[in-house]
Amino acid sequence: INRIAIITSGGDAPGMNAALRAVVLAAENYGIEVMGFRHGYEGLLTNDFVKLDREDVEHILQYSGTIIKSARSERFKSEEGGREAATNLDAHQIDAFIVIGGDGSFRGAEHLANFWKGPIIGIPGTIDNDLFGTDNTIGYDTAVETAMDALDKIRDTAEAMDRVFIVEVMGRNAGYIGISSAMACGAERMILPELQKDKPLTVDALVKHIESVQRVRGDSSYVMVLCENQWPGGAVRLAEQLEDRLNLPCRPCLLGHVQRGGRPTAMDRILGTRLGVHAVELVRQGKTAVMAGVTANELSETPLIDTWTKRKKLSEELINIQQSLFNPIKKDRNKS
Ligand code: ATP
Repeated sequence: INRIAIITSGGDAPGMNAALRAVVLAAENYGIEVMGFRHGYEGLLTNDFVKLDREDVEHILQYSGTIIKSARSERFKSEEGGREAATNLDAHQIDAFIVIGGDGSFRGAEHLANFWKGPIIGIPGTIDNDLFGTDNTIGYDTAVETAMDALDKIRDTAEAMDRVFIVEVMGRNAGYIGISSAMACGAERMILPELQKDKPLTVDALVKHIESVQRVRGDSSYVMVLCENQWPGGAVRLAEQLEDRLNLPCRPCLLGHVQRGGRPTAMDRILGTRLGVHAVELVRQGKTAVMAGVTANELSETPLIDTWTKRKKLSEELINIQQSLFNPIKKDRNKS
């Protein structure tokens, strides 16, 4: 192996730079050259690349985003796009390909494998933490910290003003950011995809819960964490629906893309570094179509296809603990 190509693809995640840095430094130790193609798969089609040396990456691990940019590329998804990307990789004499991204990016890697025969390794980089085969994905921990910080601040004003807040967090179709931030901040309620799937909440049920929490507590602050895509019209609509029914101001707060930025936490920098080095080792071992991961704190590898076909399960223990702490309806009933 003389030359590796690398991209960052899909939604950016804090810690992608740390992984990129680790790949470059580890590769350099083996005399392997690294070429970063910019803007994800799009860069493979436009031949937009930079050669990455130690000096380019040495001091980037404390920054979010990605120095080689990320993007989504529709063109790459076609047969023609896959073929073109493969031709370009061959033209640059690339021996192995590493992609840092989420499940979409890994599907892209499978697509590329139909046209290009070199080894392909995935590094899980997404704030959603929704990939099977790794305990955490790079960026998830920082996103939870950011959501937690925002929720703490919202609690201050909710308490002072006796308000109900609905805070919408990211996570695509997974409730990892939702449950972790709700638990870390003592949110009274969370609306998670994993719960909505079986038993979707109704406005009636939420009103009942808010009223009984307030009765038991004797104050009116109430913070709800809503995962994106889990309520028609999102937090804005839900706040309107609740305000219509409650005699209280209800405010929506959409955390949005702030969850993708900020200084990567130590956990994400360390995870990015471990996985970057691990990916280079996997390349050297001749592995292909696998994702580098960390499972039970040990380095692991998982077939790329499993990372999205198998579903990582959100811990029921966590869900139960968090829900059990705010079950005042039961308590109310016992009292009367
Ligand atoms: P995140 O979930 O954090 O946003 P992601 O990697 O899942 O990250 P996507 O936008 O789903 O982000 O995918 C990134 C890119 O991967 C797409 O723009 C496309 O170029 C490629 N890709 C996704 N799905 C496929 C597919 N089925 N076939 C080929 N390429 C794909």
